[in-house]
Amino acid sequence: MRLIRVMCSGRVDLEFVFRAFANGMDGVFIGGCHLNECNYITHGNYHVLSMVYLCKKLMEHIGLNPERLRIDWCDSGEGVRFAKIMNEFGRKVRELGPLGTGEGMDREELKSKLEEVARLVPYIKLVKREKLASRLENEKAYDGLFTTDEVNELFSEVVSYYIDPDKCQACGICLRRCPVEAIAGGKNQIHVIDQEKCIKCGTCLDVCPTRFGAVLKVSGEEIEVPSEPVPVTAEISKAANTATSETE
Ligand code: SF4
Ligand code: SF4
Repeated sequence: MRLIRVMCSGRVDLEFVFRAFANGMDGVFIGGCHLNECNYITHGNYHVLSMVYLCKKLMEHIGLNPERLRIDWCDSGEGVRFAKIMNEFGRKVRELGPLGTGEGMDREELKSKLEEVARLVPYIKLVKREKLASRLENEKAYDGLFTTDEVNELFSEVVSYYIDPDKCQACGICLRRCPVEAIAGGKNQIHVIDQEKCIKCGTCLDVCPTRFGAVLKVSGEEIEVPSEPVPVTAEISKAANTATSETE
């Protein structure tokens, strides 16, 4: 068992849970202060509650038993309650068996499913940000916050961003604004997006000058584009210089 202390349960990110599973944990327990007793005005425990409900649906989607994730509330004077919850959860995890094996998955399948979700976490958080910030009346109301269909849709309609080599003017704006350095390119080079690194934030689409419109947003399909930056023509290079000077 490994304890990780955070200043507020609201700090526990979706990514942390899947990272724990990827690192071989068979179960994850998140403990927080009782609802409406948060020390902070942000009421972080409501944030973590919606995250947990989404996480359970994501676990179901990839074939993991959602009971491997539990959230509960204890304050500092409730040692007995904490011990009881932990004993219960420990028993439950032992009953479920090792992660993956208990669900009939082999190691490779488990690894690839966890990697698939981990890659999509930033996108999922972005698409579901409003629901994730919900503060519902009581814990029961969170039950229906995320549905199975909604989560299945997230995976089937996941978007990808590509740079159209016929339209890219190599101005470099998207490359400078990408938060995860997923765009490769240079002066006079048509830029390309590394799909493995892209977190699907959509910034490149927003910042590519409208008159170039070189960034494509597609859902459920792959587009053939160069995998490495390629040199641009002289004409394109001239347009790029104009675009760059306009944005500086
Ligand atoms: S969608 Fe976001 S992460 Fe992906 S290439 Fe564009 S700016 Fe980068
Ligand atoms: S902002 Fe648009 S035109 Fe400029 S490099 Fe990126 S994709 Fe190409």
